[in-house]
Amino acid sequence: MSTAPKNLKLESLCIHGGQSPEPITGAVMPPVFQTSTYAQPGVARHTGYEYSRTQNPTREKLEAAVASLEGATDGVAFGSGSAATAAIQHLLDAGDTVVCGDDVYGGTYRQFTKVFSRQGLNYEFVDFTRVAPEDAIGEGTKLVWLESPTNPLLKVSDIRALAARAHAVGAIVAVDNTFASPFFQQPLSMGADLVVHSTTKYINGHSDVVGGILATRDADLAARLRFIQNSIGAVPGVWDCWLTLRGIKTLAVRMQRHQENATKVVDWLIAQPGVTRVWYPMHPSHPQYELARSQMTGFGGMVSFEIDGDLAAAERFCEATRVFTLAESLGGVESLIELPAAMTHASIPPDVRREIGIADGLVRVSVGIEHVDDLIADLGQALKVALG
Ligand SMILES: *Cc1c(COP(=O)(O)O)cnc(C)c1O
Repeated sequence: MSTAPKNLKLESLCIHGGQSPEPITGAVMPPVFQTSTYAQPGVARHTGYEYSRTQNPTREKLEAAVASLEGATDGVAFGSGSAATAAIQHLLDAGDTVVCGDDVYGGTYRQFTKVFSRQGLNYEFVDFTRVAPEDAIGEGTKLVWLESPTNPLLKVSDIRALAARAHAVGAIVAVDNTFASPFFQQPLSMGADLVVHSTTKYINGHSDVVGGILATRDADLAARLRFIQNSIGAVPGVWDCWLTLRGIKTLAVRMQRHQENATKVVDWLIAQPGVTRVWYPMHPSHPQYELARSQMTGFGGMVSFEIDGDLAAAERFCEATRVFTLAESLGGVESLIELPAAMTHASIPPDVRREIGIADGLVRVSVGIEHVDDLIADLGQALKVALG
Protein backbone atom coordinates (compact mmCIF):
# COMPACT_ATOMS: atom_id res chain seq x y z
CA MET A 1 0.00 0.00 0.00
CA SER A 2 1.48 3.32 -1.02
CA THR A 3 2.07 6.06 1.53
CA ALA A 4 1.44 9.74 0.81
CA PRO A 5 4.37 11.73 -0.63
CA LYS A 6 6.17 14.23 1.58
CA ASN A 7 5.68 18.00 1.28
CA LEU A 8 1.97 17.86 0.60
CA LYS A 9 0.06 21.11 0.90
CA LEU A 10 -2.24 21.70 3.85
CA GLU A 11 -5.44 20.87 1.94
CA SER A 12 -3.93 17.49 1.04
CA LEU A 13 -2.56 16.90 4.54
CA CYS A 14 -6.11 17.25 5.89
CA ILE A 15 -6.97 14.13 3.86
CA HIS A 16 -3.71 12.20 3.96
CA GLY A 17 -1.52 13.54 6.79
CA GLY A 18 -0.80 10.68 9.19
CA GLN A 19 -3.72 8.85 7.62
CA SER A 20 -2.37 6.22 5.24
CA PRO A 21 -4.75 3.27 4.64
CA GLU A 22 -4.84 0.55 7.26
CA PRO A 23 -2.28 -2.06 6.15
CA ILE A 24 -4.18 -5.32 6.72
CA THR A 25 -7.49 -4.57 4.98
CA GLY A 26 -6.71 -1.36 3.12
CA ALA A 27 -9.52 0.49 4.97
CA VAL A 28 -9.15 4.13 3.94
CA MET A 29 -10.47 5.37 7.28
CA PRO A 30 -8.64 4.19 10.41
CA PRO A 31 -10.67 1.47 12.13
CA VAL A 32 -12.12 2.19 15.56
CA PHE A 33 -10.03 0.01 17.86
CA GLN A 34 -12.63 -0.21 20.62
CA THR A 35 -10.57 -2.27 23.01
CA SER A 36 -9.04 -1.72 26.42
CA THR A 37 -6.36 -4.39 26.10
CA TYR A 38 -4.44 -6.46 23.53
CA ALA A 39 -3.59 -10.17 23.42
CA GLN A 40 0.14 -10.74 23.91
CA PRO A 41 1.89 -13.43 21.85
CA GLY A 42 4.10 -14.43 24.80
CA VAL A 43 4.99 -13.39 28.32
CA ALA A 44 6.59 -9.94 28.25
CA ARG A 45 6.26 -9.88 24.46
CA HIS A 46 3.63 -7.65 22.87
CA THR A 47 2.57 -6.20 19.53
CA GLY A 48 3.46 -2.64 20.48
CA TYR A 49 0.03 -2.34 22.08
CA GLU A 50 -0.54 -3.40 25.69
CA TYR A 51 -3.33 -1.29 27.16
CA SER A 52 -5.41 1.49 25.61
CA ARG A 53 -4.55 4.23 28.10
CA THR A 54 -0.97 3.75 26.95
CA GLN A 55 -1.36 3.03 23.23
CA ASN A 56 -4.33 2.87 20.89
CA PRO A 57 -4.05 2.73 17.09
CA THR A 58 -7.07 5.00 16.42
CA ARG A 59 -5.74 7.62 18.82
CA GLU A 60 -2.30 7.36 17.23
CA LYS A 61 -3.83 8.18 13.83
CA LEU A 62 -5.42 11.32 15.26
CA GLU A 63 -2.13 12.32 16.88
CA ALA A 64 -0.26 11.81 13.62
CA ALA A 65 -2.88 13.72 11.61
CA VAL A 66 -2.78 16.83 13.80
CA ALA A 67 1.02 16.66 14.07
CA SER A 68 1.26 16.71 10.29
CA LEU A 69 -1.05 19.75 10.05
CA GLU A 70 1.04 21.67 12.60
CA GLY A 71 4.36 20.72 11.00
CA ALA A 72 5.13 18.74 14.17
CA THR A 73 6.74 15.34 14.68
CA ASP A 74 4.47 14.31 17.54
CA GLY A 75 0.90 14.79 18.67
CA VAL A 76 -0.36 13.87 22.13
CA ALA A 77 -4.16 13.63 22.45
CA PHE A 78 -6.31 14.28 25.51
CA GLY A 79 -9.95 14.09 26.55
CA SER A 80 -10.39 17.89 26.27
CA GLY A 81 -8.48 21.05 25.48
CA SER A 82 -8.38 21.72 29.22
CA ALA A 83 -6.74 18.33 29.87
CA ALA A 84 -4.13 19.15 27.19
CA THR A 85 -3.49 22.49 28.93
CA ALA A 86 -3.07 20.73 32.28
CA ALA A 87 -0.60 18.23 30.80
CA ILE A 88 1.77 21.10 30.00
CA GLN A 89 1.55 22.39 33.59
CA HIS A 90 2.59 18.92 34.74
CA LEU A 91 5.93 19.47 33.00
CA LEU A 92 6.73 22.08 35.67
CA ASP A 93 7.95 21.88 39.28
CA ALA A 94 6.60 23.69 42.34
CA GLY A 95 8.12 27.16 42.46
CA ASP A 96 8.34 27.55 38.67
CA THR A 97 7.08 30.73 37.04
CA VAL A 98 4.74 30.87 34.06
CA VAL A 99 4.19 34.09 32.11
CA CYS A 100 0.73 34.03 30.58
CA GLY A 101 -1.24 36.32 28.28
CA ASP A 102 -3.81 38.29 30.29
CA ASP A 103 -6.87 37.36 28.26
CA VAL A 104 -6.60 33.62 27.82
CA TYR A 105 -9.61 31.31 27.61
CA GLY A 106 -11.61 31.54 30.85
CA GLY A 107 -11.19 27.86 31.67
CA THR A 108 -7.42 28.17 31.24
CA TYR A 109 -7.35 31.17 33.59
CA ARG A 110 -9.42 29.22 36.13
CA GLN A 111 -7.16 26.16 35.89
CA PHE A 112 -4.00 28.24 36.37
CA THR A 113 -5.30 30.42 39.23
CA LYS A 114 -7.49 27.91 41.08
CA VAL A 115 -5.73 24.58 40.55
CA PHE A 116 -2.06 24.84 39.64
CA SER A 117 -1.27 27.94 41.72
CA ARG A 118 -2.31 25.90 44.76
CA GLN A 119 0.33 23.36 43.76
CA GLY A 120 3.11 25.91 43.82
CA LEU A 121 3.24 27.26 40.26
CA ASN A 122 3.45 31.05 39.94
CA TYR A 123 1.45 32.70 37.16
CA GLU A 124 2.15 36.22 35.96
CA PHE A 125 -0.50 37.65 33.62
CA VAL A 126 0.69 40.16 31.05
CA ASP A 127 -0.88 41.98 28.10
CA PHE A 128 1.53 40.86 25.39
CA THR A 129 0.07 43.42 22.99
CA ARG A 130 1.26 46.30 25.23
CA VAL A 131 4.29 45.03 27.16
CA ALA A 132 7.51 44.33 25.24
CA PRO A 133 8.72 40.70 25.43
CA GLU A 134 11.91 41.77 27.32
CA ASP A 135 9.78 43.35 30.05
CA ALA A 136 7.09 40.68 30.06
CA ILE A 137 9.34 37.62 30.33
CA GLY A 138 11.83 37.74 33.19
CA GLU A 139 14.91 35.63 33.85
CA GLY A 140 13.97 32.30 35.38
CA THR A 141 10.62 31.99 33.56
CA LYS A 142 9.97 28.34 32.71
CA LEU A 143 6.90 28.55 30.49
CA VAL A 144 5.34 31.26 28.35
CA TRP A 145 1.67 30.65 27.58
CA LEU A 146 -0.24 32.57 24.98
CA GLU A 147 -3.28 32.55 22.78
CA SER A 148 -3.31 34.39 19.50
CA PRO A 149 -5.83 35.61 18.45
CA THR A 150 -7.55 35.86 21.83
CA ASN A 151 -11.10 35.59 22.97
CA PRO A 152 -13.28 37.67 22.56
CA LEU A 153 -11.31 40.74 21.40
CA LEU A 154 -9.17 38.77 18.95
CA LYS A 155 -5.93 40.42 20.10
CA VAL A 156 -2.83 39.23 18.28
CA SER A 157 0.50 38.53 20.03
CA ASP A 158 3.87 38.57 18.30
CA ILE A 159 4.69 34.85 18.44
CA ARG A 160 8.17 35.20 16.89
CA ALA A 161 9.28 37.95 19.27
CA LEU A 162 7.86 36.22 22.35
CA ALA A 163 9.46 32.90 21.40
CA ALA A 164 12.85 34.54 20.85
CA ARG A 165 12.74 36.22 24.27
CA ALA A 166 11.44 33.08 25.99
CA HIS A 167 14.26 30.98 24.55
CA ALA A 168 16.81 33.61 25.58
CA VAL A 169 15.81 33.04 29.23
CA GLY A 170 15.48 29.26 28.83
CA ALA A 171 11.67 29.08 28.85
CA ILE A 172 9.49 26.99 26.58
CA VAL A 173 6.58 28.53 24.67
CA ALA A 174 3.11 27.06 24.32
CA VAL A 175 0.62 28.64 21.91
CA ASP A 176 -3.08 27.87 22.11
CA ASN A 177 -3.91 27.79 18.39
CA THR A 178 -7.58 26.89 18.79
CA PHE A 179 -8.99 30.05 17.19
CA ALA A 180 -6.78 30.20 14.08
CA SER A 181 -6.47 26.43 13.50
CA PRO A 182 -3.40 25.02 11.73
CA PHE A 183 -5.02 25.90 8.43
CA PHE A 184 -4.30 29.59 9.01
CA GLN A 185 -1.47 29.60 11.55
CA GLN A 186 1.37 27.25 12.48
CA PRO A 187 3.06 28.48 15.66
CA LEU A 188 5.87 25.88 15.60
CA SER A 189 7.18 27.45 12.40
CA MET A 190 7.47 30.76 14.30
CA GLY A 191 9.47 29.35 17.21
CA ALA A 192 6.82 27.97 19.56
CA ASP A 193 7.75 24.70 21.27
CA LEU A 194 4.22 23.44 21.81
CA VAL A 195 0.88 23.98 20.12
CA VAL A 196 -2.32 23.42 22.10
CA HIS A 197 -5.75 22.78 20.62
CA SER A 198 -9.20 22.36 21.92
CA THR A 199 -10.12 19.98 19.08
CA THR A 200 -13.71 20.56 20.27
CA LYS A 201 -13.63 23.67 18.08
CA TYR A 202 -12.40 23.99 14.47
CA ILE A 203 -10.32 20.81 14.26
CA ASN A 204 -13.31 18.53 14.76
CA GLY A 205 -15.63 21.27 13.58
CA HIS A 206 -19.01 19.62 14.04
CA SER A 207 -19.89 20.43 17.66
CA ASP A 208 -20.15 16.74 18.54
CA VAL A 209 -16.85 16.00 20.33
CA VAL A 210 -14.95 17.45 23.29
CA GLY A 211 -11.22 16.86 22.84
CA GLY A 212 -7.73 18.31 23.04
CA ILE A 213 -4.30 17.76 21.58
CA LEU A 214 -0.71 18.99 21.86
CA ALA A 215 1.79 19.06 19.01
CA THR A 216 5.57 19.50 19.13
CA ARG A 217 8.79 19.00 17.17
CA ASP A 218 10.84 18.52 20.32
CA ALA A 219 11.47 14.81 20.92
CA ASP A 220 12.26 15.31 24.60
CA LEU A 221 9.07 17.31 25.25
CA ALA A 222 7.08 14.73 23.29
CA ALA A 223 8.44 11.87 25.42
CA ARG A 224 7.75 13.73 28.66
CA LEU A 225 4.20 14.60 27.54
CA ARG A 226 3.52 11.02 26.50
CA PHE A 227 4.65 9.91 29.95
CA ILE A 228 2.22 12.44 31.49
CA GLN A 229 -0.58 11.35 29.12
CA ASN A 230 -0.18 7.77 30.32
CA SER A 231 0.47 8.62 33.99
CA ILE A 232 -2.41 11.06 34.47
CA GLY A 233 -4.65 9.15 32.07
CA ALA A 234 -6.80 12.00 30.67
CA VAL A 235 -6.98 10.23 27.30
CA PRO A 236 -9.78 10.58 24.72
CA GLY A 237 -12.11 7.71 23.86
CA VAL A 238 -11.58 6.07 20.50
CA TRP A 239 -14.91 7.12 18.98
CA ASP A 240 -14.08 10.72 19.74
CA CYS A 241 -10.69 10.23 18.06
CA TRP A 242 -12.39 8.73 15.03
CA LEU A 243 -15.00 11.50 14.78
CA THR A 244 -12.24 14.08 15.02
CA LEU A 245 -10.30 12.32 12.25
CA ARG A 246 -13.45 12.50 10.14
CA GLY A 247 -13.79 16.20 10.95
CA ILE A 248 -10.18 16.91 9.94
CA LYS A 249 -10.83 15.64 6.41
CA THR A 250 -12.85 18.79 5.70
CA LEU A 251 -10.83 21.27 7.80
CA ALA A 252 -9.48 23.13 4.77
CA VAL A 253 -12.80 23.59 2.98
CA ARG A 254 -14.54 24.49 6.21
CA MET A 255 -11.95 27.10 7.16
CA GLN A 256 -12.09 28.64 3.69
CA ARG A 257 -15.86 29.00 3.92
CA HIS A 258 -15.71 30.24 7.54
CA GLN A 259 -13.32 32.95 6.37
CA GLU A 260 -15.34 33.85 3.28
CA ASN A 261 -18.57 34.16 5.27
CA ALA A 262 -16.93 36.00 8.18
CA THR A 263 -15.38 38.54 5.82
CA LYS A 264 -18.77 39.33 4.28
CA VAL A 265 -20.42 39.50 7.71
CA VAL A 266 -17.68 41.91 8.87
CA ASP A 267 -18.16 44.18 5.85
CA TRP A 268 -21.91 44.21 6.45
CA LEU A 269 -21.53 44.89 10.20
CA ILE A 270 -19.17 47.81 9.60
CA ALA A 271 -21.84 49.46 7.42
CA GLN A 272 -24.57 49.21 10.09
CA PRO A 273 -25.37 52.39 12.05
CA GLY A 274 -26.42 50.22 15.03
CA VAL A 275 -22.95 48.63 15.21
CA THR A 276 -20.28 50.81 16.81
CA ARG A 277 -17.20 48.60 16.45
CA VAL A 278 -16.10 45.36 14.81
CA TRP A 279 -13.10 43.14 15.57
CA TYR A 280 -11.68 40.75 12.96
CA PRO A 281 -7.88 40.23 12.76
CA MET A 282 -7.70 39.99 8.97
CA HIS A 283 -9.59 43.26 8.41
CA PRO A 284 -7.58 46.48 7.91
CA SER A 285 -9.53 48.10 10.77
CA HIS A 286 -8.01 45.67 13.30
CA PRO A 287 -5.35 47.37 15.48
CA GLN A 288 -2.85 44.57 14.76
CA TYR A 289 -3.76 43.88 11.17
CA GLU A 290 -0.14 43.94 9.93
CA LEU A 291 1.08 41.60 12.69
CA ALA A 292 -1.90 39.32 12.05
CA ARG A 293 -0.96 39.16 8.36
CA SER A 294 2.66 38.42 9.20
CA GLN A 295 1.75 35.28 11.15
CA MET A 296 -1.55 34.04 9.73
CA THR A 297 -2.56 33.32 6.15
CA GLY A 298 -6.18 34.10 6.99
CA PHE A 299 -8.70 33.76 9.80
CA GLY A 300 -11.85 31.74 10.39
CA GLY A 301 -15.32 32.57 11.62
CA MET A 302 -14.73 34.38 14.92
CA VAL A 303 -16.03 37.95 14.83
CA SER A 304 -16.77 40.29 17.75
CA PHE A 305 -18.72 43.53 17.55
CA GLU A 306 -20.34 46.10 19.76
CA ILE A 307 -23.93 47.14 19.25
CA ASP A 308 -25.09 50.64 20.10
CA GLY A 309 -27.11 49.68 23.18
CA ASP A 310 -26.99 48.51 26.79
CA LEU A 311 -26.84 44.98 28.16
CA ALA A 312 -30.61 44.56 27.76
CA ALA A 313 -30.42 45.52 24.07
CA ALA A 314 -27.54 43.09 23.55
CA GLU A 315 -29.57 40.37 25.25
CA ARG A 316 -32.54 41.10 22.98
CA PHE A 317 -30.20 40.90 19.99
CA CYS A 318 -28.73 37.52 20.94
CA GLU A 319 -32.16 36.07 21.74
CA ALA A 320 -33.67 37.29 18.46
CA THR A 321 -31.40 35.44 16.02
CA ARG A 322 -32.88 32.35 14.40
CA VAL A 323 -30.11 31.03 12.18
CA PHE A 324 -27.36 31.86 14.72
CA THR A 325 -27.88 29.61 17.75
CA LEU A 326 -27.42 31.18 21.18
CA ALA A 327 -24.68 28.99 22.68
CA GLU A 328 -21.17 28.95 24.05
CA SER A 329 -18.35 27.19 22.18
CA LEU A 330 -17.32 27.92 18.60
CA GLY A 331 -15.74 26.54 15.47
CA GLY A 332 -18.53 24.24 14.32
CA VAL A 333 -20.26 24.26 10.94
CA GLU A 334 -23.29 26.02 12.45
CA SER A 335 -23.29 29.71 13.36
CA LEU A 336 -23.35 30.52 17.06
CA ILE A 337 -23.87 33.78 18.93
CA GLU A 338 -23.12 34.72 22.53
CA LEU A 339 -22.86 37.67 24.88
CA PRO A 340 -19.47 37.61 26.66
CA ALA A 341 -20.51 40.00 29.49
CA ALA A 342 -23.38 37.72 30.49
CA MET A 343 -22.07 34.32 29.37
CA THR A 344 -18.46 33.28 28.69
CA HIS A 345 -16.89 36.19 30.61
CA ALA A 346 -19.59 36.75 33.28
CA SER A 347 -17.23 35.54 36.03
CA ILE A 348 -14.95 38.54 35.44
CA PRO A 349 -15.99 41.47 37.72
CA PRO A 350 -17.83 44.19 35.68
CA ASP A 351 -15.19 46.91 36.25
CA VAL A 352 -12.34 44.60 35.21
CA ARG A 353 -14.39 43.47 32.24
CA ARG A 354 -14.87 47.04 31.01
CA GLU A 355 -11.22 47.83 31.65
CA ILE A 356 -10.10 44.99 29.36
CA GLY A 357 -12.57 46.14 26.71
CA ILE A 358 -15.48 43.73 27.11
CA ALA A 359 -18.40 46.15 26.97
CA ASP A 360 -21.97 45.15 27.84
CA GLY A 361 -22.94 45.50 24.19
CA LEU A 362 -20.11 43.27 22.94
CA VAL A 363 -21.41 40.32 20.94
CA ARG A 364 -19.28 37.37 19.79
CA VAL A 365 -20.29 35.24 16.82
CA SER A 366 -18.82 32.07 15.43
CA VAL A 367 -19.74 32.40 11.76
CA GLY A 368 -20.61 28.99 10.34
CA ILE A 369 -20.71 27.67 6.80
CA GLU A 370 -24.39 28.32 6.00
CA HIS A 371 -25.21 30.62 3.05
CA VAL A 372 -23.92 34.03 4.04
CA ASP A 373 -27.10 35.81 2.84
CA ASP A 374 -29.10 33.89 5.45
CA LEU A 375 -26.60 34.86 8.13
CA ILE A 376 -26.65 38.55 7.25
CA ALA A 377 -30.47 38.61 6.99
CA ASP A 378 -30.66 36.98 10.43
CA LEU A 379 -28.32 39.52 12.04
CA GLY A 380 -30.26 42.33 10.30
CA GLN A 381 -33.65 41.30 11.68
CA ALA A 382 -32.15 40.76 15.16
CA LEU A 383 -30.61 44.25 15.09
CA LYS A 384 -34.07 45.69 14.36
CA VAL A 385 -35.56 43.75 17.29
CA ALA A 386 -32.76 44.92 19.61
CA LEU A 387 -32.49 48.56 18.66
CA GLY A 388 -35.88 49.25 17.04
C1 LIG B 1 -12.60 25.79 24.33
C2 LIG B 1 -11.21 26.29 24.49
C3 LIG B 1 -10.31 25.69 25.38
C4 LIG B 1 -10.71 24.53 26.29
O1 LIG B 1 -11.01 23.40 25.57
P1 LIG B 1 -12.06 22.27 26.05
O2 LIG B 1 -12.02 21.28 24.95
O3 LIG B 1 -13.37 22.96 26.21
O4 LIG B 1 -11.56 21.76 27.35
C5 LIG B 1 -9.02 26.18 25.43
N1 LIG B 1 -8.64 27.24 24.67
C6 LIG B 1 -9.49 27.86 23.83
C7 LIG B 1 -9.00 29.02 23.03
C8 LIG B 1 -10.80 27.41 23.71
O5 LIG B 1 -11.64 28.04 22.88
